[in-house]
Amino acid sequence: MHTAQTQFGPIKIIPGENRGRFPFCTSIFIDDDVKTIIDPGAGLKPLQELKDKIDIVVNTHYHFDHIAYNHLFERAKVFVNDKEAPCFRNRKNIGSLLGMEEVYGKKWVDGWLKRISDPHTEQSPYSPQNNHFWWLSTSKVDETYAWGDILDFGKTRMQVIGTPGHSLGFSCMYFPDYGIVYVADIDLTDFGPWYGGTDGDIDLFIKSCKNLEALDAKFFITGHEKGILGKQEFKAGLKTFLEKIDERDEKILSALKIPHTLEELTDKGLVYGKKFHVDEWLYMWEHIMIKKHVQRLVKNQKVLPGKDHTYILP
Ligand SMILES: [Zn+2]
Repeated sequence: MHTAQTQFGPIKIIPGENRGRFPFCTSIFIDDDVKTIIDPGAGLKPLQELKDKIDIVVNTHYHFDHIAYNHLFERAKVFVNDKEAPCFRNRKNIGSLLGMEEVYGKKWVDGWLKRISDPHTEQSPYSPQNNHFWWLSTSKVDETYAWGDILDFGKTRMQVIGTPGHSLGFSCMYFPDYGIVYVADIDLTDFGPWYGGTDGDIDLFIKSCKNLEALDAKFFITGHEKGILGKQEFKAGLKTFLEKIDERDEKILSALKIPHTLEELTDKGLVYGKKFHVDEWLYMWEHIMIKKHVQRLVKNQKVLPGKDHTYILP
């Protein structure tokens, strides 16, 4: 059941530019006593008219596409989940969570901070790694929320559902009075689940999806591409989406008929494709995704550590 409805009581869905494809996302405007925007990543055009109206900005998590236009709402208070708020208090924490420190080291993070502080830095080919909005939109956090909290905007109540796995504090926003939930990056895109940061976790991601499926919601609003889905449509899409995890496992198992190190597996480009590796962030995410799969396969005894940092089949 697809719906043409884009408003549920005071809750208005703002589609992102380019169908909400990364680095844009669907934003949610709560046109209530306390005017609130969730994940202002829809783009300048769709958000500009709300610029001076918004009292509160809520971010479901710290990823670029969900915070990009925080800076547009100068007089608004910014609410971020308590687990990721440190990213807004000291941007070096973004380096630890997103993977930069793990893959390239602390010095690289310092260089990155310099690059994003300068609006004239050259952009990267495939990721928003050098976008100055990183700098502008992480400049403040006014309040934190926690999983399980209920925020009240007047007529609208919003319950914060903890859905870790995609990022450390990733939260989905449930509106029980209207039977809708904003599922943000549990987005059912063809790419599949994303857990490419140091803070990503495959098993937690799966568990979070199951928890969302169990919600008594009629409509699920994704952060990218798909838009507003009925419950059955969401359930069916979720199944295909999670199957991507098994497909990635299969690709790795197939490659490991010959022993490979993590670096060699990364170089194969099994998740993003090799051509994207010219962008440091895409390489970084490829590397971390592969590493998380291999570690999970080892834990489940489908892969064994071999000689010289290689991995092999049992
Ligand atoms: Zn995200």
